[in-house]
Amino acid sequence: MNPSQALQGETPERLVARFGEGTVSLHDARRIIAHVVQRGASSLDDITQVRKVARLAVSAAFPVGAVRVLERRASAEDPFVKFAVALVDDAVIETVRIPLEKPGRFVVCVSSQVGCAMGCAFCATAQMGLRRSLEAWEIVEQVRLVAQELRRTGEGRVHGVVFQGMGEPLHNLDNVLQAIEVLSHPCGLAIDARNITVCTVGIVPGIDRLASMRTRIRLGISITSAQQSLRRSLVPMDGRHPIREVVEAAQRFQGRSKRLVMFAYALLGGINTTDAEADALAELLRIMPARLSLIDWNAVPGLPFRPPTDEERERFHDRLAKLGVPVVRRYSGGKDIGAACGQLATATGRRERSQNTEG
Ligand code: SF4
Repeated sequence: MNPSQALQGETPERLVARFGEGTVSLHDARRIIAHVVQRGASSLDDITQVRKVARLAVSAAFPVGAVRVLERRASAEDPFVKFAVALVDDAVIETVRIPLEKPGRFVVCVSSQVGCAMGCAFCATAQMGLRRSLEAWEIVEQVRLVAQELRRTGEGRVHGVVFQGMGEPLHNLDNVLQAIEVLSHPCGLAIDARNITVCTVGIVPGIDRLASMRTRIRLGISITSAQQSLRRSLVPMDGRHPIREVVEAAQRFQGRSKRLVMFAYALLGGINTTDAEADALAELLRIMPARLSLIDWNAVPGLPFRPPTDEERERFHDRLAKLGVPVVRRYSGGKDIGAACGQLATATGRRERSQNTEG
């Protein structure tokens, strides 16, 4: 199967626009999408109350896509679960089920690309390089798989989605937006768009595009450093989109969407935890009301970084708080299964990358 199109990436409205009301009415299209996306049907053969002409036209143009869970690893330390998911071309991505404090509610951390082109120095996914971007349906399937498991086990339901897995979502924005349409559609997975967060390392045109759409989704920005030379050495994309311009774009997004932007800061012990860094960060965030989450960087084998010490973390946090930055510490779970922030990369991807760079 060609991975480029499958029914899970479509909304009823898109089907009607593609085939015309005469062939696929809105009623037909709603039933078809609910059948496949909500109920997880693998074909349209047993669908009821859809006209034959619609069923045949849609089946001929769109297959029902299939991905496979290769591995399911549950954390022994906390209720995180990481899934290794094989796509139709045998590329492997990772998806994480994150429990919320409220029992029975989960967020799904999805991948948007196989690997990533951004090359952040502290990130496991960067070591894979970029293989390809995911299609909308491949993003939807990650959430659907988790929703299906939660329903089957009676553990709860998917409350939200965060694009913080493998890949830079603004580097695959068309497909990410199409996936969000399905995820939030009442005939799709019906997840409130306000509970969908797109996290970026900072691609200004992508942020501006989101701002122009007046979307209800949430935007997350990964800062890493407020000092230009340090940030540039850790996040190569800073050369094209310096962090100040990224924060200014975030301000435009916040102004138009009225949605508070979430800033995230991964603490790399001894690197971006200095007093000078805290001062620069407070200065950077002065231009807009902001909420900042501090997250411990988690160990990735082969990378020359370490998590912060307790003392580094407390000192950095307290200095920011004293400078008036609304700052919280965020717990990054699933460390023992490699599901924590910055740790996602498939073993195969890492292996191939190291063979390529060695060769
Ligand atoms: S941190 Fe995000 S943007 Fe940077 S390389 Fe990793 S996946 Fe890509």
